[in-house]
Amino acid sequence: MDLVNDPALDAFRAEIRAFLRANLTDDIRRKVMEGGYLSREAHTRWHKVLQKQGWIAPAWPVEHGGCGWPLAKQYVFEQEFALAYAPRAVIFGVEMVGPLLIEYGSAAQKARYLPGILSGDEWWCQGFSEPGSGSDLASLACRAVRDGDHYMINGTKLWQTAATEADMMFGLFRTDSSGRKQQGITVLLVPMKSKGLSLRPITLLDGGQEVAQCFFDDVRVPVANRVGEENQGWGCAKFLLSIERLGIAEVARSSAMLNRLKGIVEQPDAHGRRLADDPEVANEIAEIEIDLMALEATEYCMLFDPAAGADLGAEASTLKLMGTQVQQRISAATMAAAGPYAQAMASGLDGDNASRIGPDFAEPATRGYFNLRKISIYGGSNEIQKNIVAKAVLGL
Ligand SMILES: Cc1cc2nc3c(=O)[nH]c(=O)nc-3n(C[C@H](O)[C@H](O)[C@H](O)COP(=O)(O)OP(=O)(O)OC[C@H]3O[C@@H](n4cnc5c(N)ncnc54)[C@H](O)[C@@H]3O)c2cc1C
Repeated sequence: MDLVNDPALDAFRAEIRAFLRANLTDDIRRKVMEGGYLSREAHTRWHKVLQKQGWIAPAWPVEHGGCGWPLAKQYVFEQEFALAYAPRAVIFGVEMVGPLLIEYGSAAQKARYLPGILSGDEWWCQGFSEPGSGSDLASLACRAVRDGDHYMINGTKLWQTAATEADMMFGLFRTDSSGRKQQGITVLLVPMKSKGLSLRPITLLDGGQEVAQCFFDDVRVPVANRVGEENQGWGCAKFLLSIERLGIAEVARSSAMLNRLKGIVEQPDAHGRRLADDPEVANEIAEIEIDLMALEATEYCMLFDPAAGADLGAEASTLKLMGTQVQQRISAATMAAAGPYAQAMASGLDGDNASRIGPDFAEPATRGYFNLRKISIYGGSNEIQKNIVAKAVLGL
C-alpha cells in the first residue's frame, strides 16, 4: 500500500491539517509538545472538539459510534495528530475499555458505558498490575468473591495511571485459585467512588502524580459489572494486548520530538554559537534519525505488507522495544541540549514560565526525560519484550 501517493489519503491528510490549524489551541499544543500534564479540563475540552467533528474513535465500528476507518486512514490520522502536537482522545476509554466492551460486553454494558467514553464525560483507569504481579500478570491476587448478586473485592492494585481522575476502573480480579493461574481471573468494572476503595497517589521521578495504588476493602460490585464469563478474564487481557498495535512504535510522536530538538539546537546562544554545529550533537541527532527511519520502515512493512497477515504477533515486540528506545534517546538529547540548566527542574509541573530557569525548553526537557523512563516499563517491560523477540521471533 502507498500511503504517500494515494489521492484519497492525500485529501484526508489535508482535511486533518486544516482541522488542526483551525481547532488546536496554543495552550494544549504547547503542553503536548513539552510532554506536560494535560488537565482533565483541557483534555475534555479537546475531546469535545473531536467529538463534534466525529473523530473520537477512529478504529471503532460505525454502529457503535466510531469512524470505522481502515488501517491506512487511522495511520494517517495518528501521524498528523502527532506531528501537530495534538493530544490523543482519553486513552483508557477509547483505546482500551471501549474495544473490550464492543468485543465482550453485554448489550446493557455497551448501552451504559460506550456513550460516556465517546463524550469524554466518563474517565477510566486500568486495574491490572499489583505488587509482585506486573510482568507476571497472571499471578495477580486481588480477590473478588461472589456474594449473591455482587462480588466482594479485597486486596490492592498498583501503578494505576489516571486513577485519581477516573470515574471507573476496568480491572482483573482473582475469582479462582484452584487451577492454572490464567484460568481464575475475571474482568470487573468498578466505580471509583465505591465504598471501601481508596487511593494512594505515587510521586514519579518527574514530580508528577499520574499513578496511584488502589486499595480494596470489602468493595461490592454488582455481578452485572462483570465483562464476559467468570474466570475467563485472561482472554480479555490478551485481547487488549492484541489491539495495542497501531501506534505502538510511536514513530510520528518521535518525529515530532526530533523536529523540536532540531529547532532547539539550531538556535544561536548569546555568543552566536549553535549546538547543531557541534559534531557530537549533530552525530547523535543523525544516528537517532536513522534509527527512527528504520523503525518507520519496519512498522510500515509490518502493518501494510499484505504478506504480513492481520496479526502482528510477537514481532510487535520489536516495535515497542525500538520505539521506546528512540523516544528515550530523543528526550535524553533534548535534556543534554539544556546543558547546566537541565539541573534546574522546578516544581511547576504545569510548565509555569515564572518558575523556569534558563531557556524555555530546559525545564520541560528535564521533566520529559524523567517522565519517559516509564515507557520501557509499562505495556510489558523492554526486558520482557526482548525475551519475546528472542524466543518467538528469533527462535532462540
Ligand atoms: C508510570 C507507570 C504507569 C503504569 N500504568 C499502569 C496502569 O495504568 N495500569 C496497570 O495495571 N499497570 C500500570 N503500570 C504497571 C506496569 O504494567 C508494570 O510496572 C510492568 O508490567 C512491570 O511490572 P512490575 O512493576 O511488577 O515489575 P516486575 O515485573 O517486578 O519487573 C522488575 C524488573 O525485572 C524485569 N523482569 C521481570 N521479569 C523478567 C523476566 N522474566 N526476564 C527478564 N527480566 C524480567 C523487568 O523488566 C523489570 O526491569 C504502570 C507502570 C508505570 C511505571
